[in-house]
Amino acid sequence: MKIDSLHLDHAQALLARAGQPLDGPQGGEDPAYLQRLIDALCELSLRDPLTGLSNRRHFLAALDQEIDRVTRAGDMALLLLVDIDHFKRVNDTHGHPAGDQVIRAVAQCLSACVRPMDTVSRYGGEEFAIILPSCQSVFGAQVAERIRERVAATPLVLEGGDTLHFTVSIGGAYAPQWLRFTAAAWIERADEQLYRAKAEGRNRVCLEPQADSVVSAEEKSLLFGLSPVDETTDNEGVPSLGAD
Ligand code: GH3
Ligand code: MG
Ligand code: MG
Repeated sequence: MKIDSLHLDHAQALLARAGQPLDGPQGGEDPAYLQRLIDALCELSLRDPLTGLSNRRHFLAALDQEIDRVTRAGDMALLLLVDIDHFKRVNDTHGHPAGDQVIRAVAQCLSACVRPMDTVSRYGGEEFAIILPSCQSVFGAQVAERIRERVAATPLVLEGGDTLHFTVSIGGAYAPQWLRFTAAAWIERADEQLYRAKAEGRNRVCLEPQADSVVSAEEKSLLFGLSPVDETTDNEGVPSLGAD
């Protein structure tokens, strides 16, 4: 098939408008060019145009992948939901473009606080989601708090000279290997914690209590097919379900 017979101009214009024009030879009968074009479009379809972060589509795919990985490899993962506090006030007081600047500033703070292996996404308007694979509970609490502090300590100076201070609330839930769950259920658990962070006053982190502390010895023994262990005695013989 002749590549010239394809209508590629829309795709090329889309990439150019997104600031990612394809370099190199174009047109002709070059399957390599077609492949680069497809790859670039796929990449574009997974990004949020305002912040450059992963978009919701990419986030949901990454979350499914993470659930598979947790189930196979057994490493615990953490899902954080981050929501800008009283964001509507920013729009109402300073205008929508200032709100957009705040969203971008928060996105930069989040990206700066996590590891390359973590997925930071813009989940909705002023909400973000972060997937942290291989995340032990001590690390998870630290990183969530680091994010909260960094946002609170990063004021934005607007063009007119006004300085905007803003904060985020963060909710999080772990995905332990032994628990079977869906992506929707994982998001819901993190969202419950976000709701709690808002209700408790905002600008704070609430993580779901660790699975280790909510599962009784009897439940553990049922999960692992071992005989129940008296909670007051040494748990020797029962595999630890906790992260640490
Ligand atoms: P809370 O502390 O409870 O989260 O309050 P809030 O004001 O942040 O939350 P609310 O849901 O009331 O308002 C969110 C606002 O975010 C409303 C909507 O207009 C605005 N918003 C959503 N997407 C965008 C966007 O892309 N840019 C801008 N500037 N605003 C947006
Ligand atoms: Mg919100
Ligand atoms: Mg909000």
